[in-house]
Amino acid sequence: MGGAVCDDRAVSDASPSRPRPPSVERVLGPVRASLPGADPSALAALVRAVVDGERERLACGGQARAAEELAAETVGRVRAFTDPVAEGGPVPPRVINATGVVLHTNLGRAPWPAAAIEAASVAAAGYGYLELEEVTGRRGARFRAAEEHLVALTGAEAALVVTNAAAALLLAVGLAGRRGAVVVSRGELVEIGGGVRIPEVVARAGARLVEVGTTNRTRAADFEAPLAEGRARLVLRVHPSNFALTGFAESADLVEVAGIAHRHGALVVDDLGSGALLDTAAFGLAHEPTPSERLAAGADVVVFSGDKLVGGPQAGLIVGRAELIARLRRDPLARAMRPDKAILAGVAATLGLYRAGRAATDVPVWRAIARTSDELRARAALVAEAVGQRAEVVALDSAVGGGSLPGQVLASAGLALRLAWPHRVAAALRRGPDRVLARIEGDALVCDLRTVEPEDDAALARRLAGVALAAPR
Ligand SMILES: *Cc1c(COP(=O)(O)O)cnc(C)c1O
Repeated sequence: MGGAVCDDRAVSDASPSRPRPPSVERVLGPVRASLPGADPSALAALVRAVVDGERERLACGGQARAAEELAAETVGRVRAFTDPVAEGGPVPPRVINATGVVLHTNLGRAPWPAAAIEAASVAAAGYGYLELEEVTGRRGARFRAAEEHLVALTGAEAALVVTNAAAALLLAVGLAGRRGAVVVSRGELVEIGGGVRIPEVVARAGARLVEVGTTNRTRAADFEAPLAEGRARLVLRVHPSNFALTGFAESADLVEVAGIAHRHGALVVDDLGSGALLDTAAFGLAHEPTPSERLAAGADVVVFSGDKLVGGPQAGLIVGRAELIARLRRDPLARAMRPDKAILAGVAATLGLYRAGRAATDVPVWRAIARTSDELRARAALVAEAVGQRAEVVALDSAVGGGSLPGQVLASAGLALRLAWPHRVAAALRRGPDRVLARIEGDALVCDLRTVEPEDDAALARRLAGVALAAPR
């Protein structure tokens, strides 16, 4: 056996005075007694891992523990494997999002609407006619409720749901055909996030890229030559959803580009990114183009995310002309991007809320966007009171985030704690229990209440009071 590694020092196992861990058998006995019905070989494997860990700990000079203590540790680990709120459990550690960023990609973007959670859980729990026709008993089309909602909500001829918008984009670019070419404005050759870049997506789809225009200015006429000469059969438009081009800038109007494309028998695929189904202008934001507007302007296929401004499960939503959607559906790649039955149900329930006219109240993302600064200031005052004198109520700007509405902010409110070491305090808050992800502005730790659910205000106050007491002035 090799030596243990303790704080970068390798320690030999050969020392004569070192205590030895209890045997696997001595630990396994009480573990089996505490977990009746569990497969003994699975438990034995875990006990061996715990005993191995103990041996390392002892090699590093740790205090010896009794077999019962190791058994309790093993039982705790076993229970955590399936406990949704346990440390080391199956769910990413829950966190109170006090960043004010509504769609925080690193925090899993949209929290699901309650209706979506319920629908997904029912779909997950049993068998269902996912791809079987009730009347004929034969294999049929995959369950289409989400797609029917998309058709109704966007006015498209047809729709398709895949695993995420990046997949939807890859699939749609494939409409250019093998070794086909795709025209993209140089102003839209962007990185959509996580290192995924449009030129690479086009290459991966098996197509060639034809660049037109310049970084800051592209006109509709720039698309004319490659399409007229038959050098490309598909125009890809990419919505600038995570950056803004200002100053001497111009982008080609979709109506004009689609006119040119269609005149030359080419298709227009529009990557809308976020794809709002409600009018963002009604919430004090700039108007974000909607899928139906883009279809009406001439896009043949529009792709957008299920978990950005739509506010539901991660999914790629594709709407457009029936014949093209049918081609996408037949593409073998579509099979590799097929969403799970529970996700499909969650997407359908989320879209159902839009059709029922309840999106602004029942979709958490829109509820967060709709909170007024007055309402947030009133909550902040109560939290500040509970925290004590070091907390100050402040006016803030929250971002929508998640590659939506760059540069756009919502007037918000929250708390600021002026601290000697705000980064250290933020790091302490990030850890559990009741983890809090806050912002740092200068020497202040800042919590924006827009993204905090009101039922978490008390936990937030408790955590802030704790760090305010502990932190040096
Ligand atoms: C976010 C985004 C994507 C990717 O969407 P995912 O849901 O992350 O797969 C693609 N294109 C644009 C323009 C985006 O903003």
